[in-house]
Amino acid sequence: MAIIVQKFGGTSVADAGKIRRAAERVIKTKKAGFQVVVVASARGKQTDQLVADALELNPNPPIREIDQLLSTGEQQTVSLFAMALEAMGHNAISFTGGQIRMLTDSAYTKAQIKSIDAERIHKQLDQGKIVTVAGFQGIDEHGNITTLGRGGSDTSAVALAAALGAEECEIYTDVDGIYTTDPRLFKNAVKMEQISYDEMLEMASLGAGVMHIRAVGFGKKYDVKIHVRNSAKETEGTIITHEVPQMEGVVVTGATVQKDMAKIALVGVDNIPGNAAKVFAHLAKAKVVVNDIIQTEVSAEKANLSFMIGLSDLAIAKEAAEKIKSEVGCQSVFTRDDIALLSVVGVGMRTHYGVADRMFSALAKAQINIDSITTSEIRISCTVDEDQAEKALEVVCLAFELDKPAQERAEA
Ligand code: ADP
Ligand code: ASP
Ligand code: MG
Repeated sequence: MAIIVQKFGGTSVADAGKIRRAAERVIKTKKAGFQVVVVASARGKQTDQLVADALELNPNPPIREIDQLLSTGEQQTVSLFAMALEAMGHNAISFTGGQIRMLTDSAYTKAQIKSIDAERIHKQLDQGKIVTVAGFQGIDEHGNITTLGRGGSDTSAVALAAALGAEECEIYTDVDGIYTTDPRLFKNAVKMEQISYDEMLEMASLGAGVMHIRAVGFGKKYDVKIHVRNSAKETEGTIITHEVPQMEGVVVTGATVQKDMAKIALVGVDNIPGNAAKVFAHLAKAKVVVNDIIQTEVSAEKANLSFMIGLSDLAIAKEAAEKIKSEVGCQSVFTRDDIALLSVVGVGMRTHYGVADRMFSALAKAQINIDSITTSEIRISCTVDEDQAEKALEVVCLAFELDKPAQERAEA
């Protein structure tokens, strides 16, 4: 019998009524002839609350204990979900990540999944039960509870769908699907029927919080059909899939804006072999994740080196940069925390020209200054002043007609 994995995000299971509504959807799928595995997140804002509780008692809590604590949110949801299903006349059993041996590495708060024991779930499904699994968590080889990073229940769901050979992984959330941009930031954003794994990976990495990036990576690697849809409606959502030919006709698929970013520039670094290696070795030692590195030679003797980091890493990255400064002949370290990274993404950029011109002209017309620019094969990103981020997103969305369905844009 074919299996469907249905993942419900925090807002979709926030209270008893919503759990019941989600359970009704699960039962409907079972009645349609599928075996159903539910993956659920912590209810509402519970994870945020648990983080706040931890910080109240210890401003620098041990991360093992953070994971031990945060995993309880999901554990509550899946047992409540199983109880709701039972009350509605369907046999159900809940599992924590550890109970299905969702084995991860030991990187607390950002663990990576290594393997899953699908057997235990298959056995329960074959007995006619609905299985509910706590998202966001796993267990390391020493039996410690780990979590996969904020938003990580999506990854639990897609990884489970891959391990179980599921026909589809449905991600139920509080929007109708994946939009051309975050509909909370640009109200005329349009829901897409489909998007390629590569574009979704790029959008997720640039701040489109609708999907956890590693979930999309799993989907691509293991060929899992992902369907993002609204838990409060019956409408079709967005399918994340491999690239299909007509997608190339659309130049820009979506736009993102990321505000929790900071930039560090090392000005006037000696232009000699080994200096970039020294700077980034130092940052790696401080466990700082670095993006969008730009090095520019400004004279025969000097180069400027800049990069983007998450805002929460700014203090630690700045300290690392200040430490290495004199060793690489750097004249000054310049930092900015009031910037936003605005990006447009689309596989069509591989075959169309004029995309950069369109983006920069739209920003120029709106008198928005571009601080720095980076590109990849399928994206263009600019940093702009944080207080102009929404306006910048709007003008860029309008320039690429992201307020219109893809079919109407395809010839642009
Ligand atoms: P869940 O709790 O169900 O996992 P999330 O809050 O993680 O839900 O993700 C859904 C939210 O993602 C939406 O409410 C929306 O504001 C945001 N979002 C950001 N970018 C996009 C986008 N391109 N399309 C749809 N939603 C987006
Ligand atoms: N509950 C976790 C979080 O809030 C995981 C998730 O919702 O996916 O980040
Ligand atoms: Mg989420």
